Amino acid sequence: MMELVFLALGSNLADPLQQVDIALLALGRLPQTSLVVCSSYYRSRPMGPKNQPDYLNAVVVLKTALAPEELLAHTQLIELKQGRDRQKPRFGPRTLDLDILLFGNRMIVTSRLTVPHYDMHNREFMLYPLEEIAPNLRFPDGTLLVNLLRNIARNGLIFWDKTHRVRYW
Ligand code: AMP
Repeated sequence: MMELVFLALGSNLADPLQQVDIALLALGRLPQTSLVVCSSYYRSRPMGPKNQPDYLNAVVVLKTALAPEELLAHTQLIELKQGRDRQKPRFGPRTLDLDILLFGNRMIVTSRLTVPHYDMHNREFMLYPLEEIAPNLRFPDGTLLVNLLRNIARNGLIFWDKTHRVRYW
């Protein structure tokens, strides 16, 4: 059975465009998986310490027959391969984050995975890209995305630049 998965991408390398482009290629090549749509690329203010570059964020929809923890293993491998600056210490900050936001209509709590993503309702850089590609989205608990968006400011979230608009596969 193929299920729809919403995945959030984030990077705040000096040039994060390349990180996210490469991650998209890797996601499109995953077994039993196809890429359906990617939101526009967004620029967001960093959470936590402010003395770091803005983030590039996007949300993609995948169609997959992988199990949730199989998909997680693949996304973590992509993070390792593409996201980690080899110049930095082994356990230094990661330059690519891949978070599973939604996996079909499932609610998952295991030691490795919490889906829906535990903090997405507080993160404008996850909710606004989601709205762009799935404006009528309803969460497994029945919450409507539009209702979450009423309570969350854009917090400086803008398009990364005009050339990176929503893309369909
Ligand atoms: P972080 O360093 O913030 O990217 O967190 C990575 C850890 O979060 C990993 O050990 C994952 O097993 C765990 N995790 C829990 N829920 C999720 C999720 N929905 N998407 C991605 N990672 C998750």
